Amino acid sequence: MIYNPNTFSNINEVKTTHLDLNFIVDFKCKILDAVVTLKLVTLVDNVSKIILDTCYLNIKSVSCCGAQLEHNLADITEKFSSALHIQLNDKLSANTKFDLIINYCTSAVQWLEPIFYSQTSEKNHPYLFIQCQAIHARSLAPCQDTPAFKLSYHASVQVPQPLRALISAVELVGNLCCLEICRTEKFIEIGEKFLTLYEWNKYELLVLPASFPYGGMENPCLTFVTPTLLAGDRSLVDVVSHEIPHSWMGNLEHFWLNEGWTVSIERKIMGRLHGEATAEFDAIIGWRALEQDIELFGESNVLTALTPKLKVVDPDDSFSSVPYKKGCLVTCSWNVKNEFDHTLAKACHELAERWHRARDNQVFDEFSPDDIKIFTPEQTMVFLERLFEFSPLPFPVIEALINFIVSWMLAIPKYDLDGNKPLYRLLNQTKNGSELAKKTFRENKSFYHPIAVAMIEKDILK
Ligand SMILES: [Zn+2]
Repeated sequence: MIYNPNTFSNINEVKTTHLDLNFIVDFKCKILDAVVTLKLVTLVDNVSKIILDTCYLNIKSVSCCGAQLEHNLADITEKFSSALHIQLNDKLSANTKFDLIINYCTSAVQWLEPIFYSQTSEKNHPYLFIQCQAIHARSLAPCQDTPAFKLSYHASVQVPQPLRALISAVELVGNLCCLEICRTEKFIEIGEKFLTLYEWNKYELLVLPASFPYGGMENPCLTFVTPTLLAGDRSLVDVVSHEIPHSWMGNLEHFWLNEGWTVSIERKIMGRLHGEATAEFDAIIGWRALEQDIELFGESNVLTALTPKLKVVDPDDSFSSVPYKKGCLVTCSWNVKNEFDHTLAKACHELAERWHRARDNQVFDEFSPDDIKIFTPEQTMVFLERLFEFSPLPFPVIEALINFIVSWMLAIPKYDLDGNKPLYRLLNQTKNGSELAKKTFRENKSFYHPIAVAMIEKDILK
């Protein structure tokens, strides 16, 4: 018996084995005109209906073996959208294979405007990308939106000239090489040494427009990344070492298994590339992130569990470091006592303590940008975090500090959800920051991606 509270589909009666997707993209009307063929097989006897997940799809027709089928779309629900009920003409016995052909159109995908909202970098062409995680595949096509079934797919996408369509597949069109991220092959090479061979033949990175709301999204063969990784000095490209291990791990039944294993492989790659102290330092940062998220949710909150019951929760709202960092602690049984090598953390803490002491004499000659020149971006963040654990600094110290780290700040992520969401939340919590947070959000809202808008709104407008 398969249990998945986030799908409406009758997944214990029927299973999809393949999807054939055909799209015509109309940027002017912001519509995908689509036909999908679902190859299905029944799992039990007497199957008379198929229920699929949908999200704001306009269903035009449903057919099977040339005959039109009765169907109806249930009312939309707040968290999981709506179920498409399809009545079959016969009762099917177990192991019956059949095709359903569904004509529909959708606009509930990620359209980025070139001019009006300025969501694309050069503001010349519109842009469209599809984000299926966590449960957004249902806004692309009527489907059984569950990780319980693995299936193959074929897709054909027509776009107007001069635009190009890219899809995550072994036969990916085009070459998207980027010098900034040239360490990618090294990550794969190291992974192959302690895992199996990389099976997918190709690994491409697609740098998305700045409003892409995630750091990275591990689509097979074609990982999406935020342009904020392109800091100019290759200092942030190690994020890719997290996305690559997903190519080995695939999609397991539970999110924490995917991410827990992936983080542990990522740390192994980092350890072999930069030395064990770097892997241990990453573990220290992970531990801290986990502590902060547990504190934010509340210790007894169900979302701090590795397998939270999401019956009444939108999976997007459950997103945190818990499945990643707690998942890693469990999957690699590495260290559940927070006993790590603190070599790299020590330098950050010592610098923070020096700045803390400067509050008394307010003499800043002893500080130089060279102090953080040898720091990785993560070390600089740990330095700042440590500093903010002390009592609030007086204004002259903050002013000197800003000058001190200004070059580093220019390189920090500004657009994606990982960077933006906590900034808004923290600003909203400060004494006079709530209005500033709301005002800044209103002014920039049209630039952000809809998923980012929804999540930030929940944090600062509730
Ligand atoms: Zn991941």
